[in-house]
Amino acid sequence: MSTAKTFSKAPYRRRVISEVRPAILSTSATELEVWLSSRAAPAYRRKQVWGWLARGAASFAEMGDVPKPLRSELEREFRVTSLRQVAMSEADRGLTTKTLYELDGGHSVESVVMRYSGRSTLCISSQAGCPIGCPFCATGKFPFGRNLKAHEIIEQALDAVRVLGTEGRRLSHVVFMGMGEPMANYHAVVESVRRLSDPELLGISPRRIVVSTSGLIPRITQLGEEKLAVTLAISLHAARDELRDVLVPINRKYPVADLVAAAQGYADRTSRRVSYEWVLLAGVNDTERDAKELGRLLRGKLAHVNLIPFNPVDDTPYRAPERGAVRRFKELVEAQGLTVTVRDTRGRDADAACGQLHERVMLAGRAQGALLTDRSVVPAS
Ligand code: SF4
Repeated sequence: MSTAKTFSKAPYRRRVISEVRPAILSTSATELEVWLSSRAAPAYRRKQVWGWLARGAASFAEMGDVPKPLRSELEREFRVTSLRQVAMSEADRGLTTKTLYELDGGHSVESVVMRYSGRSTLCISSQAGCPIGCPFCATGKFPFGRNLKAHEIIEQALDAVRVLGTEGRRLSHVVFMGMGEPMANYHAVVESVRRLSDPELLGISPRRIVVSTSGLIPRITQLGEEKLAVTLAISLHAARDELRDVLVPINRKYPVADLVAAAQGYADRTSRRVSYEWVLLAGVNDTERDAKELGRLLRGKLAHVNLIPFNPVDDTPYRAPERGAVRRFKELVEAQGLTVTVRDTRGRDADAACGQLHERVMLAGRAQGALLTDRSVVPAS
């Protein structure tokens, strides 16, 4: 498939996928077992198929311990995945890779794999686009597309497993911090967390799964009742309403004090420390006043602050802070008695801020073929 061709005219909804076979993981365990039984195959074949998917199988033909006639029937009836790789970019000498996938119906989403010593983390998307519209975010600049289905979320992880497997690595952590507001696609996100942590599928401990939200309070409360024990991350970015109303517009509906109270409720219920994300925007939210307000908001809470130096996004008025400003703000927050980490800025040249590869491919497509001449954006084969 020529990616330049795919995106050369109207980037959204251009390609109508005529593929009618469902993706295998769009069926539940029970549905698949019923299907197997209708082919006179025992129920344990479902576990075998899932086991192969969890090991990164890219086709039914690879599933060696499944009888060949059944593999052929599976192939006729299902697809291994509904995602099609459209473009890739990489940074940090290959330690960070970002993949853009096209979904059935033509929308696209990104996910990012980050490789560290002893662990590999996947940043996953839950929506095509995002309805929240934070003004510093590349994803928020595009019109909202649609919610992902649970299987489309899991398929991003299966693709990461496949890629990491070829490098002798395994996927150990998943963070829902890609495109979209996970809590606005609540049921699919919760189902995908259950399946990511299902020992018969990927078996990733919920403690190694982070679900982020810009602040949909009713869903935070609901998540606390799910008994999932995932880590909750709040995309905070400002501690006073007048600034957060601008940076994270959902704050106008769910003010920051109520949000932190709901997050603390989650921490009390699950005994899990809440992570507060703070994208540092030079001169906007990196002042002494901001640090003091953050201290007042979180002091005494089961909380950890993650500072994320802004990854510049075109056509926004925001700038990344200087290294010294990041260090100074960290010290100011620590002086408030909070625990703070500065997140490493993985993948700056991989368009690693959420939505940036998507934006770049869309714009390249509009420029009629620029994609193929851009060295850091590699069309997927
Ligand atoms: S920062 Fe997150 S919540 Fe805000 S627009 Fe981007 S994807 Fe949506």
